[in-house]
Amino acid sequence: MTSPSFSPPLDLIHVFWHEGMLAHDAGTGVFDTGMDPGFLEVLEKHPENAERVRNMVSILRKGPISPFVSWHVGRPAHVSELFSFHSSEYIEELVQANGAGSKELCAGTFLKPGSWGAALLAAGTTLSAMKYILDGHGKLAYALVRPPGHHAQPCQADGYCFLNNAGLAVQLALDSGFRKVAIIDIDVHYGNGTAEGFYRSDNVLTVSLHMNHGSWGPSHPQSGSIDEVGEGNGFGYNLNIPLPNGTGDEGYAYAMKELVVPAVQVFKPMLIVLVVGQDSSAFDPNGRQCLTMEGYRKIGQIVCRLADTYTNGCILIVQEGGYHVTYSAYCLHATLEGVLKLPAPLLSDPIAYYPEDKAYTFKVVDAIKKHWKESIPFLKEL
Ligand SMILES: [Zn+2]
Repeated sequence: MTSPSFSPPLDLIHVFWHEGMLAHDAGTGVFDTGMDPGFLEVLEKHPENAERVRNMVSILRKGPISPFVSWHVGRPAHVSELFSFHSSEYIEELVQANGAGSKELCAGTFLKPGSWGAALLAAGTTLSAMKYILDGHGKLAYALVRPPGHHAQPCQADGYCFLNNAGLAVQLALDSGFRKVAIIDIDVHYGNGTAEGFYRSDNVLTVSLHMNHGSWGPSHPQSGSIDEVGEGNGFGYNLNIPLPNGTGDEGYAYAMKELVVPAVQVFKPMLIVLVVGQDSSAFDPNGRQCLTMEGYRKIGQIVCRLADTYTNGCILIVQEGGYHVTYSAYCLHATLEGVLKLPAPLLSDPIAYYPEDKAYTFKVVDAIKKHWKESIPFLKEL
């Protein structure tokens, strides 16, 4: 029943989804290794599995946010659309791996029967969500996609990712005349693939808040450190914010307020892409950053205010990681509540209780701010 005081938000969130993306199955093993040591009774699913996304779809369909959601069916990308971000040699490698049936492209990243079709759907669905905004049909669009994309570099698969969904969408925006796009990536891992794609461009401001995990091997040579700031025209337009383990809600809010918001204010984007991963949550097997639903809601609100000021309220949200099968869905719900400016939480947090280390995080954020003022030309006045 609707209460008399009920007033609908100004906008709906347009969710782009296609169930064909569930067909990607990275198998079982010891966490993400694909290996069976032979002495375990129960092997777990690869963390990037269909269940996590089935719960995200389900909570948006049946949870309290459902009246604010408009659903759209995604589509596969054409192979020719992929060359705007990826090299033809790399795409050929993926096509051949698909033809061969199965291949571990790099550690933990398994292309199996069904994976290539799902990857094409993830890319095409994200392009559709972006086009919806570019064509003026809606202001808030969310590409609910898997396999994820932000580690996929122009010539290299990495970290469960094959095609860079967000990168392809941003390139579409640039090609459509949107000259300045800001990407804010809150997945717990460095969005190295997206950063690499725009590393020499001052048209795209890439900002990544992540766990201080460093390089994890040949497929991920980038460190995610504050020293990786872009090259050539792009010098200063890749901003890395490596945060300490246990950063938590207040630490993330501080980093947003002191670092992300001022940088976006100086950059003045025409479009904002929020790259979300719920693996920054307190319960994720892949991260140690301790965000709760409250922290995600707050980030959604902050990004929404930036969009209201600079992009006429337009935000494309792109799904990346998030591996706790239940809490990822809850944190997604909270993020979208924040983006939609819903006045009070629609859904309470069933499990948040881990401590966070905000004092140390505040010091780290202040140190990064000082570094930016000294070394990033366009942020001298920060
Ligand atoms: Zn991640």
